Amino acid sequence: MDSYKVWITKTDGLSDLIMAIQQEEINQLNSEFRNATLIEVLAYVLDRFQDNVILASSLGLEDQILTHFVQRHSKKARIMVLDTLRLNQETYDLLKQMQEEYQVTYEIYYPNNDAVEALVSTKGTHSFYESIENRKECCHIRKIEPLTRVLKTVDAWITGLRKDQSVTRQDMALFEYDQTHKILKVNPLIHWDYETVRDVIKAEKIPYNALHDQGYPSIGCEPCTRAVKEGEDIRAGRWWWEAADQKECGLHSNKDKKS
Ligand code: SF4
Repeated sequence: MDSYKVWITKTDGLSDLIMAIQQEEINQLNSEFRNATLIEVLAYVLDRFQDNVILASSLGLEDQILTHFVQRHSKKARIMVLDTLRLNQETYDLLKQMQEEYQVTYEIYYPNNDAVEALVSTKGTHSFYESIENRKECCHIRKIEPLTRVLKTVDAWITGLRKDQSVTRQDMALFEYDQTHKILKVNPLIHWDYETVRDVIKAEKIPYNALHDQGYPSIGCEPCTRAVKEGEDIRAGRWWWEAADQKECGLHSNKDKKS
């Protein structure tokens, strides 16, 4: 795979030929790593991209597993957290635990202060409950803009996405070309199920958010997350007032996705 050194990023207006070569590489990566372990995928990506790859962590179960194995491979690997300023106290507690006990040096990114002030001043503190447009506006200010800012510094990012988390994630692959940010997107847990995630957290004794033991399978911002009942879908606690096919904050939208 080292002979494939054609990864060209951060270049708007890529020619069709270069796009085709990149897509060919992604197809080859997906084929080559089809049966690879999590550790093998992470080792390849971290060694290949070094400072130019970042793990985007929400401190959820999946990202805790990735953080654990990324740190094991390299203490210098870049790991980022978006602090939307609306996280649960339990999430901040876990962040502190990871920084102090696990010695993780997170890059922590905040929303643009002027944008948050303008939003709250004009629409109040809970406008996201009023319409999908308002909710997406809040997610854009608090999540997408800061993520976009940091992804401009890398050629690849690692996510904890899994297919069975959402109907909107069914066509995702292990390696994808992120059309929105024009970089490589790596989803090492894409085929994992929730039981495997819980098993690995337990087996490896990885710290996790205390809310997971209080009925929260998926945790985002405090006002937009709630516990689910027995038998409910794991995404039922996120943006519960919206239809299932609307439940994405936009962090993982991939316009014109080809893989
Ligand atoms: Fe705003 Fe809710 Fe989106 Fe957080 S999840 S950014 S509070 S709308």
